[in-house]
Amino acid sequence: MKSIVATAIGVVLLVLTLTDCAQNPVSGNPNFVTMSESQEVQTGRQEDVKVRQEYGVYNNKALQQYVNEVGQRLARASHRPNLQYSFAVVDSPEINAFALPGGYIYITRGILSYLSSEAELAGVLGHEIGHVTARHSVQQISAATAAGVGATLLQVFVPGLRNQAGDSVISLLGNVLLSGYGREHELEADRLGAQYLARTGYDPQAMIKVVGVLKNQELFDAEVAKSEGREPRAYHGVFASHPDSDTRLQQVVAEAGRPAPGSARLNQEEFLRRIDRMVFADSPAQGVIRNENFYHTEFGLALTFPRNWRIKNHPDRVSATNPGNDAIIELRSAGRAQGTPLEALRRALKGNIGAEVTQTTLNGLPAALTSTSMQGLPTRVAAVFLGKTAFLIGGQARNAQALQRALPEINAAIASFRPISDADRKLARPLTLRIINAPRGATFADLARKSPLGKNAVSHLRLINGMYPGGEPVAGQPLKVIE
Ligand SMILES: [Zn+2]
Repeated sequence: MKSIVATAIGVVLLVLTLTDCAQNPVSGNPNFVTMSESQEVQTGRQEDVKVRQEYGVYNNKALQQYVNEVGQRLARASHRPNLQYSFAVVDSPEINAFALPGGYIYITRGILSYLSSEAELAGVLGHEIGHVTARHSVQQISAATAAGVGATLLQVFVPGLRNQAGDSVISLLGNVLLSGYGREHELEADRLGAQYLARTGYDPQAMIKVVGVLKNQELFDAEVAKSEGREPRAYHGVFASHPDSDTRLQQVVAEAGRPAPGSARLNQEEFLRRIDRMVFADSPAQGVIRNENFYHTEFGLALTFPRNWRIKNHPDRVSATNPGNDAIIELRSAGRAQGTPLEALRRALKGNIGAEVTQTTLNGLPAALTSTSMQGLPTRVAAVFLGKTAFLIGGQARNAQALQRALPEINAAIASFRPISDADRKLARPLTLRIINAPRGATFADLARKSPLGKNAVSHLRLINGMYPGGEPVAGQPLKVIE
């Protein structure tokens, strides 16, 4: 959740415009390639403003400049060198990268933590440039939107606060790279990216490394999910097989050729120096999750979710889903605290307010609560004023029985909304990525004991160091740790 109120993203309009533009007379499919380049650039420029506003750009000028330099070098070697490309690191802990039409390319702070060299960074950027040069990104937006609308029953919580597409273009786009959106497009982007790597002096094999980084994320999540007794996230089914045994990927990368031995640009040290001291996981600007608590120092709020619910911090909200997957709690900002909490609740619910409304205080803060039905789903929702901002906290369940079961936990979460305390502020300290030289004889188990990463620290440290699942550090080698 970010401290600016997210604006509605024009995804519906955008898609209507695009699907309007032409149909392929042979397949009957929309043919986006007939969209003019200036239309494409204009679309990208419009959406870029929204991406930057909703995600936030990571506040580190030197890092932004570095990523842009690497990106521009690749772009000049691409099939569309005349586009004006822009490369930005967005302030998100998600492991992702994505492209807008027209050459607007984003890489998350999150994915940077998991890369080990400039060549791997170039692999990610080259892949995204490939989507732009092959003009996939326009198609991806519309396809992702179509798939995203109404795909999840519980995503309709408090409609009207979100744009009509049911979710923002960001989270839809955000899923594109990793969700298996069109295997053929992904493979083509890998092929093009590998070519751009070769043309700029990197070893195209870095592309396979990058796919391996993503594949290992999936394996790690499966490991954590097992220990937590939940289903693993299905967020990159695109890599059905491990890249090492993915013959088509191996083939398209091999076609790009290999640099002469010893001549490839790797720039591991430079890359690690650039990401040293980067924020790891949640940032203070978006609020941090510590165990079942959510802290947002800029808003000055704290909230405790029920134990064992899965908490996720989105750009525009923070949500928690119960272990049974039939109830959800969401917290979001709802603009300025104007009038009374009751009025804010009325505005937010647009006439859907329940018959019974309680006007009360939560930990000294003015609040109003009601039970209602949103999109046919039983919902408990509160509006609370804290400082100059109104907040909505809602619990929603798949049916009346599920709400009945979850209601004590939903009510407890609502009741826990409070001004942040000094003790909370200490816990909300952001984590930092540091580069050290591996001490002689140190194992990941040793490093994990000093790590704030919690019970999966050993695997997590291996993962960020590209040594998952079984590697150990070699004395003196540069190593990422989290402080
Ligand atoms: Zn892709």
